[in-house]
Amino acid sequence: LFAGPVDFVKGVVAMDGLPPADRPEVCFAGRSNVGKSSLINALTGRKGIARASNTPGRTQELNFFALGERGYLVDLPGYGYAQAPVAVVQKWQALLKQYLAGRPNLRRAFALIDARHGIKPVDHEIMTLLDRSAVPFQVVVTKADKMGRSALEQVLIQIEGELQKHPAAYPELVVTSSEKGEGIPTLRAIIEGLTAG
Ligand code: GDP
Repeated sequence: LFAGPVDFVKGVVAMDGLPPADRPEVCFAGRSNVGKSSLINALTGRKGIARASNTPGRTQELNFFALGERGYLVDLPGYGYAQAPVAVVQKWQALLKQYLAGRPNLRRAFALIDARHGIKPVDHEIMTLLDRSAVPFQVVVTKADKMGRSALEQVLIQIEGELQKHPAAYPELVVTSSEKGEGIPTLRAIIEGLTAG
């Protein structure tokens, strides 16, 4: 799947702009700066493909990437950016809510959590939205290379505990480092499994 072409399809700002739900898709959510673009670039092996989502002004868009004709990767807007105006935040929250509740081909959401920070209140908010939308989600821990082994273990235990509050959460975490490539093949295999057939 990831050996084939990966193309940026479009940035979506409203429900009527969504591409047809004609293939399975997975989406990626996380706080601004969590390492979401780096992860998508590492997964696809295309440096810079997810850069568009990071440029100011495009932050409210849902960015769609096609894995050939077999699936979509959806880069959701980063949240928790302190400087974002309230009106902007409300607008993307509304779109996110509609998207999560109304996308029949959405197989799984990946909730990205920075290994240094663990789950913050704003992450819980998104996870609660995923619970309510009945979108199964899995935590992807990012930037694992920034932590020593035992400190990382502590964070993973904290995250696993917090996830018990969320009925839509998978208990298994995927621990990654886009920098070192750790966990990337595992995450690719999970996505392959979700988009197969
Ligand atoms: P985004 O805002 O979630 O898209 O975050 P980016 O992918 O732009 O990453 C934010 C910052 O974290 C950048 O400076 C990246 O170089 C850094 N970063 C991302 N992933 C990793 C990683 O796996 N390891 C390390 N050490 N730094 C990372």
